[in-house]
Amino acid sequence: MMRIILTAVTFAFFTFSLWPPGERNMLFFQKEGLPDGWKDLLQMDSSLILDIKYASDENFTGEKLYDCARCLLRTEVAEALLAVNKEVEKRGLRLKVFDCYRPRHIQERMWQIIPDARYVAPPSQGSMHNRGLAVDLTLVDAASGEELDMGSAYDSFEKESHHSYKNLPQAVLLNREYLKTEMVRYGFTSIQSEWWHYSYQSLSSPLYDFNWSCPGSSKATLEGHGRQQNRLPSVTY
Ligand SMILES: [Zn+2]
Repeated sequence: MMRIILTAVTFAFFTFSLWPPGERNMLFFQKEGLPDGWKDLLQMDSSLILDIKYASDENFTGEKLYDCARCLLRTEVAEALLAVNKEVEKRGLRLKVFDCYRPRHIQERMWQIIPDARYVAPPSQGSMHNRGLAVDLTLVDAASGEELDMGSAYDSFEKESHHSYKNLPQAVLLNREYLKTEMVRYGFTSIQSEWWHYSYQSLSSPLYDFNWSCPGSSKATLEGHGRQQNRLPSVTY
């Protein structure tokens, strides 16, 4: 019996001491519940600013929809977003992120509240956010942290939020145009009705429905993951 225990201890020692650091990180992510091919944006670059509105009740639903604020994206999308952030830093700006991956059951809840396909992707189709391929964001001044004026508030479902709405101060139009230029440069696509929404169209991804873990949470992090669907993106939001 003693020999078996000694063998097991020796095996564990050599396994973990010889494991490359990158592999250990991978184990951490798997244990923590992120599927392969996903990244936590803040773990890649802690200078990114998160203001995840659905992690509070300060959003169009009036409900707190997420247990805590995190920005999870498919790896390629996260890397592209960090590249944009580096680009805007050259102008003394930074990205502030309002929403990233959104579990599909949250999409269903949003649709119950606003069943309007102009603003909420029907859960039957799924949103690019449910695929980890979309991000809602704005620009802030890096020194002051102040948001640049984009002419309307995030999730304001008014015509002022449309890219085609030009009856706005020149500075606002330039702010929108600059964000769009840099996002498009790194592979993102805009949609007409929301100045803050960008999606990564060159990738396909199934719809996901896992919850992320939060500090102090004992909840299973892959809850509902089995519901993922292998349907290709058909909507841009
Ligand atoms: Zn969006």
